[in-house]
Amino acid sequence: MTSISIAGAGIGGLTAALCLHAKGFTDIRIFEAVPEIKPLGVGINVMPHSSEVLHNLGLGEALDEIAVRTRCIEYRTRFGHLIQSDPRSVEAGFAAPQYSIHRGELQFLLFETVRERLGADAIEVGKPVTGFIQTDDKVTVLFEDGDSYETDILIGAGGLRCKVRAQLHPDEGPLCYEGTMMFRGATQTDVIGDGRTMVIAGNHDVKFVTYPISEKQRKEGKALTNWVAEVRVDRPRHIQDADWNRDATFDYLTPFQDFQMADMDIVAIMKAAPSVTEFPMIDRDPVAFWTQGRVTLLGDAAHPMYPIGANGASQAIIDGRALAEALAADAGTQGLQAYEAERRPVTAKVVLMNRQGGPEQVLDIADARVKGPDDKIEDLITAQELEDVAANYRAVAGFQKRTV
Ligand SMILES: Cc1cc2nc3c(=O)[nH]c(=O)nc-3n(C[C@H](O)[C@H](O)[C@H](O)COP(=O)(O)OP(=O)(O)OC[C@H]3O[C@@H](n4cnc5c(N)ncnc54)[C@H](O)[C@@H]3O)c2cc1C
Repeated sequence: MTSISIAGAGIGGLTAALCLHAKGFTDIRIFEAVPEIKPLGVGINVMPHSSEVLHNLGLGEALDEIAVRTRCIEYRTRFGHLIQSDPRSVEAGFAAPQYSIHRGELQFLLFETVRERLGADAIEVGKPVTGFIQTDDKVTVLFEDGDSYETDILIGAGGLRCKVRAQLHPDEGPLCYEGTMMFRGATQTDVIGDGRTMVIAGNHDVKFVTYPISEKQRKEGKALTNWVAEVRVDRPRHIQDADWNRDATFDYLTPFQDFQMADMDIVAIMKAAPSVTEFPMIDRDPVAFWTQGRVTLLGDAAHPMYPIGANGASQAIIDGRALAEALAADAGTQGLQAYEAERRPVTAKVVLMNRQGGPEQVLDIADARVKGPDDKIEDLITAQELEDVAANYRAVAGFQKRTV
């Protein structure tokens, strides 16, 4: 039986392990750097095309208990005009729903499922991978503590600063940053609107993104409202040492003082958050290869992208399915090459498209034309212009209706 090692127990690495197990692989080890998986991060979205992967792994019921089935994404101007409502639900024709969820809860669900299905010792925590040595027949995984482990295949899934990627691409430059910071929090609020809508308002420079992330609270008539205030700032802030848990030390409230939303007071929501973190909008240029012999990359390690269009976790999940299918067909170097051939071109396009704003380009189209609360948006933008942006992104990111 082929032995497969995964460096990193993030959403990508854990999903890959479950997909590989579903294809009959049983000798799978995951090595995770941190000594304990804690519920870090705030909200993320699992888009329809990737939640189908999780449903097929038998996790639909568990997801429905914790995550909100997102009905749609509403794009709005800073004056509160509805620019576009982009449906994301099963009722709207997708094979599986979009979920809004706390990242930590999703990671924990995947972590526990891996332990149940692959055995409690399948994941070794507190075991940072530093690199690898490979021959034609084997890979030796190297660890910070001086240990090593022999395996047939190594998957680098260590996220933004993956050591396996660093070894494959030693001359890669620093993380790319275009000037936007994300200030993030989760606030206890009343239910906003239908309790299942994601709202993205403003423009490329000052943008507010919000969505509820707790199904348990929604059922109790409350909401855990996740929000991201995106602000273009003058000077770079902690780029190379970006940390999802860094406390925010910047005035992110002032840029939103004149935002007018009929159904929420966004400054009050931000002020009421128990803690706020800051993280830069960073990515990396697509690389020329992921695979070298018996080693490949997956998730953010393979294609770090701006979290625009809610694609970071989603593309990592889809990588897991593609990898498992390719290795089921050929459990060696050919399988890894087939996986890369399927996924690298697609994800490179998403990385580049997210730099152009992805589906959120509709915000800038509206921002250039709508100058006040009394402007009539329907006189200034055609529905076709907006649908062209959404349809183009759906095609690139791979989540057309009924084709997921
Ligand atoms: C702590 C944290 C909080 C986050 N919070 C958010 C959020 O709030 N919103 C959002 O949109 N995205 C967040 N992300 C990013 C998001 O989870 C990813 O973009 C997406 O899920 C893709 O997942 P991934 O598994 O490829 O990478 P990641 O989620 O980054 O997971 C990589 C995993 O590899 C581990 N690792 C790193 N280096 C090594 C090593 N040398 N050896 C072994 N293991 C290693 C990491 O500890 C981590 O568990 C967060 C990521 C992290 C790590």
